[in-house]
Amino acid sequence: MTFDVFARVELERFFCRREEFGKFYCKACLVQQLSRRGTRKVSGDAWTAATEEAFLRPGRLRVSSGRPCEICKELGLSLGVERLDAEVGDQPTDWSLGSVA
Ligand SMILES: [Zn+2]
Repeated sequence: MTFDVFARVELERFFCRREEFGKFYCKACLVQQLSRRGTRKVSGDAWTAATEEAFLRPGRLRVSSGRPCEICKELGLSLGVERLDAEVGDQPTDWSLGSVA
């Protein structure tokens, strides 16, 4: 498992926290949140890279364009997890959690 994949997995874990479920963050605020509250094993640069990647390929997460950021309230692109988890549209990408041999 490469380090970038680790950061990406940790990013997903962050959104799986009970208090983050249903919240959406813009890119800048998300990196800030991850740096402050995510695991210390991931550097700021790695969080930025993982966040950029997550906006491009959200996988199980959702990129929203009409939802205000939880922190700065800007109506730009934001990333988060929908509260309704019934929708299974996207197939997991190659960094799937289940594929650890
Ligand atoms: Zn924001």
